[in-house]
Amino acid sequence: MKVCSQPGCGELVKAGKCDTHRREYDKRRGTTTERGYGAEHRATRDALLPSAYGTACRYCGNRMWPHEHLALDHTEDRSSYRGIVHADYRDCPKGGNAAEGATRGNLNRSSHT
Ligand SMILES: [Zn+2]
Ligand SMILES: [Zn+2]
Repeated sequence: MKVCSQPGCGELVKAGKCDTHRREYDKRRGTTTERGYGAEHRATRDALLPSAYGTACRYCGNRMWPHEHLALDHTEDRSSYRGIVHADYRDCPKGGNAAEGATRGNLNRSSHT
């Protein structure tokens, strides 16, 4: 056991900081979700959704509807948005927003077939 790395804290931990100070640290830093797909991303998506219904998904070209899973697609570095697309394979023949990451996995898996 070690002592919490927060100066002045005597809490014993396995490594790093005690629960209290780790939580405080995470809060200041922001979680991955908050920094990436955060509240701003959701708000932008929600604002764009109504006008996206009936328009074509940029992946499969099919129209998108409220009962489908839709996502706000963004550029690789997340600096700007490409627009609303199908969120996943359930609605999109091309895989939608999930395709980029999923395709890499599929390629690896299908390379032996
Ligand atoms: Zn501590
Ligand atoms: Zn689609």
